[in-house]
Amino acid sequence: MRIIDVHTHPILREDQRGPAGAAQLIRRARAHGIEHLVALGDVLAFSRMQTAEQVQLINDETAAVMRAHPHFVTGFCYLNPLLGPSVVEAEVARCVARGFRGLKLEIANNARDACMAPVMRAAEQHGLVVLQHAWSMTNIHQRRFHTDPEDVATLAQRFPRVPIIMAHLTGCGVRGILAVKGCLNVVVDTSGAAPEAGLVEFAVEQLGARRVLYGSDAPVRDFGVALARITGSRLDARTQRMLLHDNASALLRLP
Ligand SMILES: [Zn+2]
Repeated sequence: MRIIDVHTHPILREDQRGPAGAAQLIRRARAHGIEHLVALGDVLAFSRMQTAEQVQLINDETAAVMRAHPHFVTGFCYLNPLLGPSVVEAEVARCVARGFRGLKLEIANNARDACMAPVMRAAEQHGLVVLQHAWSMTNIHQRRFHTDPEDVATLAQRFPRVPIIMAHLTGCGVRGILAVKGCLNVVVDTSGAAPEAGLVEFAVEQLGARRVLYGSDAPVRDFGVALARITGSRLDARTQRMLLHDNASALLRLP
């Protein structure tokens, strides 16, 4: 079985594994049969709103992981959109020159905020995928900076030519799947919290198999549990292969 993981954080200060942590995570990924992964950076390092220098450091760490594991790791450039258009554009250009293939947005701002416009323009200009943190905000009252699936839909409608990965299927839930159903530039990754029976099947039924991608959020979540959401689902083998590999391969344009 071929597997690509579109949502990992090889370096994470929070878990105190230190610099060896990234290599350890990649060894674990390989042991699970994963052949390629997307590294999103230590996106909550320092605070939820980093300085330009801190953003650069986070992306430098991702670049180092890419260099240490050639052909195994695709880097996404982490951004704090609140730093403004010139900082965003310079950082995207710096990361694209080093082979990054996407942009990662976390909780510096909500995806519906005006500061996202330069981010999305840069994505379109450089042909990048945008991976947007999302979680259902009906019960978490931080929507000022936490993106709800409804906000992902707003972003997707404003920038219909930019491919968007909405993170965290379980966190987005049934309501989140339905919120982005009409936005054909949005796919969802299967990470987020513990698996819920039937949810992956529901996502495939509503969005189509091409719009659901395997992601683990490792090391925040375990590869084994994240993979079993799909391998333990009622989806047939061909559909599972699309979720685990083919969709991500096409989206990232992997050779
Ligand atoms: Zn994550």
